[in-house]
Amino acid sequence: MDQNISHIEHATPVIRMLDDAAANRIAAGEVIERPASAVKELVENALDAGARRVDVDILDGGKTLLRVRDDGCGIPADQLGLAVARHATSKTDGHDLMQITSFGFRGEALASLGAAGRLRLSSRAAGADEAMMIRVEGGQIAPLTPVALKSGTVVELSDLFYATPARLKFLRTDRAETQAIMDVIKRLAMAEPDVSFTLRQMQGEGAARVLLDYPAQAGDFFDARLGRLRQVMGGEFAQNAMPIDAERDGMRLTGFASLPTYSRGNAQAQYLFVNGRPVRDRMLLSALRAAYGDVMSRDRFPVAALYLAVDLDRVDINVHPAKAEVRFRDAGIVRGLIIGAIKQALLGHGHQSATTIGAGLLGAAQAQGAVPQAAFYQASYARAGHGGAGARAAAYQAQAPQAAPGGFGFDLPQHHSKEAPEVQREAHPQAHPLGAAVAQIHETYIIAQTAEGFVLVDQHAAHERLVYERLKAGFYAREVLPAQALLLPEIVEMGQEASAFLLEEEIAQALAQLGLQIEPFGGGAICVRATPALLGEVNAARLLADIADELMSPENEATSETLRARMDAVLSRMSCHGSIRSGRRMRLEEMNALLREMEATPLSGQCNHGRPTYITLDLPAIERLFGRV
Ligand code: ADP
Ligand code: MG
Repeated sequence: MDQNISHIEHATPVIRMLDDAAANRIAAGEVIERPASAVKELVENALDAGARRVDVDILDGGKTLLRVRDDGCGIPADQLGLAVARHATSKTDGHDLMQITSFGFRGEALASLGAAGRLRLSSRAAGADEAMMIRVEGGQIAPLTPVALKSGTVVELSDLFYATPARLKFLRTDRAETQAIMDVIKRLAMAEPDVSFTLRQMQGEGAARVLLDYPAQAGDFFDARLGRLRQVMGGEFAQNAMPIDAERDGMRLTGFASLPTYSRGNAQAQYLFVNGRPVRDRMLLSALRAAYGDVMSRDRFPVAALYLAVDLDRVDINVHPAKAEVRFRDAGIVRGLIIGAIKQALLGHGHQSATTIGAGLLGAAQAQGAVPQAAFYQASYARAGHGGAGARAAAYQAQAPQAAPGGFGFDLPQHHSKEAPEVQREAHPQAHPLGAAVAQIHETYIIAQTAEGFVLVDQHAAHERLVYERLKAGFYAREVLPAQALLLPEIVEMGQEASAFLLEEEIAQALAQLGLQIEPFGGGAICVRATPALLGEVNAARLLADIADELMSPENEATSETLRARMDAVLSRMSCHGSIRSGRRMRLEEMNALLREMEATPLSGQCNHGRPTYITLDLPAIERLFGRV
């Protein structure tokens, strides 16, 4: 061993040409990162071949098999060998890389796929007598064989990365890989509205589940595109989006961007296209964020599908093998165009975004309420005989009153007399840490008198927190939480990806446990039969969209593998929906019940977003305010 190493150190290095197989393996590392990148290359090839229809089948998240079938122009038999060779392309002569309008041009996708997995390319060019197939395995090309195929091209890639086990290890769960494939197809489908796309998940014995089905859209380009956006993003987006159409210095930006009130918890639903090519460009994403800067809090993300058209020679797409990033000759102008166009549109929809502006201001407030909290939690725990974090769950359960169907738990004070007898025993509610309710002002705030001063409670924020804690307690105790059946089941358009995801057994069951009962309705829609009673009346569509976002967010996928581990975030989102809106008049008993429940609930001092649920002012402070001391 040692001898070998010293031998290598002292030998004169020899430079040699790598053989094709080795060169392809190296290139494959860059081009084919995961099954979704293979799908991207193959679907792009189909589109470059003028396909009107592209069908994708996958098995095990594309790891075991992926197949892309198209009805494009096909490849003549005598060129199949070239098609799988590296740096062989029909799309450019390599002369002017700034004038390329096809998706592909580097001529390395098929060669890379042949090095990364077992590749079969079958094709029949228009007018050819028969179809032929070429096979490549581990970079070795097998002789052509005839196959049955009427027209177009079928590419099958099996056992991706079988030869590079190191790569295999980096792949995520089948679900995550499937999601990435869906994302690729959605983006390309949004770029090519007049092409039909399907994605099916093979399930053995010939059965398959349709994950995406986007029939071609007719009409002029803009109508077709709007139709496709509805298919991909769901009808709700279309209703909550502002049309964008702006021009500057010969560049044009069109598409749709959401109202500030229609936002997501991650940037997944931001789709950007440059000259018809889906891109994930950091500069473009940051321009989008900047455009919404003062109407959206930093943890929310607008939904958008924006299409930028610029002269070919003002943008370089050949920055990276996957061509996801682009480089603009005048990035500043592009940024200005995006920000200007969206701000203009936002101004036109000012009244619609006003509520969110208010929420943003609120977010700037400091969580003063959190300070005195600790003291009274300890007090209430001590009273109940609990201590330590382990006793938490038990405490939650003991203190979480059952919700009356159709109402909020504390609407009816008698619930509390059952659950928390000490409330009744106390003769002076003022003796409670949060005091006795005196009045509600602006139908938004509760004023309560305490022994040392008064507290001002934000009823909406407080209720949100309480609902969250109750959902959590119930969910982790594996209770089935009360559901409120809807008089008329509500049909919610989600888009196929999100609906398929929510309807997965494990997820649908977890939601049912929370009282949210959903069923498939077909065509990317979900039928909602019941909503969690704890939430009262809710907007089912918004609720489902938020849950899907939270569950599907890639950040969550990365940090936690199990559904249960992602549920906290989901519960927090859900509780925002059920909260008593500001502007709801409350009776004195209701207010007191709310205060008592806050006292009994850990962490009730701030809402789920970290804003205070109440602030206190004690007499000395009030006296100082009036200059009495
Ligand atoms: P590129 O797309 O960059 O040219 P590829 O390796 O992806 O490189 O494909 C090589 C060539 O094979 C393409 O230029 C094209 O001529 C041909 N080809 C690949 N896929 C298809 C297809 N689905 N239909 C027709 N021709 C195809
Ligand atoms: Mg290609």
